[in-house]
Amino acid sequence: MPSIETTLQELITLSRDLGRPERDLVILGEGNTSALCEDSTMFVKASGTQLSTIEADGFVRVYREPVAALADGGDLTDEQVKNALEEAKFDKTVKRRPSVETVLHALALGEAGIKFVGHTHPVPVNALSCSVLVNEAIAGRLFPDEIVVCGPAPLYIPYTDPGLPLARAVRDGLAAYRDRWAQTPKVILMQNHGLIALGGNASEVDNITAMYVKTCRVLMGTYAFGGPNFLTPANVRRIHTRPDELYRRQQLKVS
Ligand SMILES: [Zn+2]
Repeated sequence: MPSIETTLQELITLSRDLGRPERDLVILGEGNTSALCEDSTMFVKASGTQLSTIEADGFVRVYREPVAALADGGDLTDEQVKNALEEAKFDKTVKRRPSVETVLHALALGEAGIKFVGHTHPVPVNALSCSVLVNEAIAGRLFPDEIVVCGPAPLYIPYTDPGLPLARAVRDGLAAYRDRWAQTPKVILMQNHGLIALGGNASEVDNITAMYVKTCRVLMGTYAFGGPNFLTPANVRRIHTRPDELYRRQQLKVS
């Protein structure tokens, strides 16, 4: 496993790449990122920082497990969540506060094989997530690379209040997805909010984000030509499990 310093450097690079203005994935302080360390602590973006210019001190290191456990506890006020996150800091002298979505990140990083998480608000993704046709539009897959990079389906989370309620909805969604697909989702699509990409390394998170933005742009285009013509479920299954596509997926993870 990479050193903690290497993990932080990879997270900084990923965050700045996701924040590049020409990619239009986030503006201002939108979006947040996180990474799991070898000692089961995690780095998460601090509140009030910007992805495009983030430095090492723009991240807060916290113990992952007590943060994830907040989702399983009783109802907490915003103040109690803030105090619990403060208590979970690796270094209590750090002034910055972890992102309001730290519990969600802790849950995602607790999934098998997930080491990096990137949450963004891309315009094409939110054109979809804010639309009345969202359920219909994500009911099928459009092209093979979508499946190779973004998995057999996104996990869709209906609109939920940010913070602990959203983290709980994602926790329940992850469990339902595992039952349905026997794997962790690559993409979580949050209604009227945005995208979460879950990856085994930093470049996979970037790849998933780029491919899902492309998928949403293609999807928008299909509605100009009468609506999406989805691949059949058999085709989706075939792409998802064929050996050459599994190989391609492995290659993408290390690129
Ligand atoms: Zn967000």
